[in-house]
Amino acid sequence: MISQRQLFLNHLAQTTDFPLMLEITRASGIYMYTTDGQAIIDLISGIGVSNVGHCHPNVVNAVKKQAETYMHLMVYGEVVQTPQNQLAQAIINTLPSSLDNIFFMNSGSEAIEGAMKLAKRYTGRAEFVACHNAYHGSSHGAMSVGGSEEFKTKYRPLLPGIRHVQFGNIDELRHITTHTAAFVVETVQGEAGIRVGTKEYFQALRQRCNETGTLLILDEIQTGFGRTGKFWGFEHYDIVPDIITCAKGMGGGMPISAFISSKDKMAVFKNNPILGHISTFGGHPVSCAASLATIQTIQEEGLLDEVAQKAQLFKTLLVHPKIKQIRNKGLLMAVEFESFEILKPIIDKAMELGVLTDWFLNCDNSLRIAPPLIITEEQIRDACKLLLQAIEEA
Ligand code: PMP
Repeated sequence: MISQRQLFLNHLAQTTDFPLMLEITRASGIYMYTTDGQAIIDLISGIGVSNVGHCHPNVVNAVKKQAETYMHLMVYGEVVQTPQNQLAQAIINTLPSSLDNIFFMNSGSEAIEGAMKLAKRYTGRAEFVACHNAYHGSSHGAMSVGGSEEFKTKYRPLLPGIRHVQFGNIDELRHITTHTAAFVVETVQGEAGIRVGTKEYFQALRQRCNETGTLLILDEIQTGFGRTGKFWGFEHYDIVPDIITCAKGMGGGMPISAFISSKDKMAVFKNNPILGHISTFGGHPVSCAASLATIQTIQEEGLLDEVAQKAQLFKTLLVHPKIKQIRNKGLLMAVEFESFEILKPIIDKAMELGVLTDWFLNCDNSLRIAPPLIITEEQIRDACKLLLQAIEEA
């Protein structure tokens, strides 16, 4: 434990009035270790950053090797960086043929910004439709399509021409019109507390976008890279989006993001003015090497095959009268309680017992479970035993 007085990172209190003040010196697999050596089971994994576990040896080795080779080349397109090109190829191999062009950035918010700018330039339209309770990031554009009124209050004016609809409601798709550049939506709403849409909804959405010439931007920042049991969340719905964004789990712990589309759409960035979208660090070679190792590890270790089964084990074990409901798509899970007042002491008690969880930005009565995908059956049993103990003792 570190004291408030020793802490020089005020922003840690940005999402909570209750920072844990837990100092972590080392992490490995599903565990994080405090300064005094206590092992803590990480049931959040950076909201799906450490899909392959903390410090996976494949990722660590790739980072080391690339750091020794080169770390940064400042280029505006003149030079091809091998790690970027290799990663682009590996990602495109996971996607339908119409998603064949990648623009690398550094964070989820930046990927959303890029996707929105691409949609504006390609369609010549300026309006967006997005969902209530969505979270797409903290930059101005991403916040504009975000669905929390509370977060936005102090930052207005944000982007004009944005309309929010209820996620999953087919009737409300009528608000997508021939003026809409893009509909921006998560394939599973994460910060809304894991709200899963139906195949029917996503297919109706695809159709409405086709009818109105609107691009469909799917935010795969939480769902991508295997979190839901398929490599991409949209694979559950049998649709092909126009643009996807990814980040978080992509880098295996290193910062990297991307927006992905077709060559013909991405070509608008080549037209004048050419400098419509650039990034100094986007697609950093060390992050690209980490990401490539992450994809290879997901594939070699067959991690996708086990996600549904592991999620089911959590659901089977987490039975308690105080638990109202469990919502999930793969290992993206929300365990709902009556209220934040009931949930908060459970989270605190779990922490004391050595299990890290939290709640959601736009849903504070539900506990987040998004462990590394490498978590074993035995580790799930340990974690659930401690969580049930926390629910009893809180
Ligand atoms: N989209 C979604 C669905 C997210 O969950 C997040 C981060 N929680 C973001 C975008 C923003 O990503 P970043 O924090 O890397 O900017």
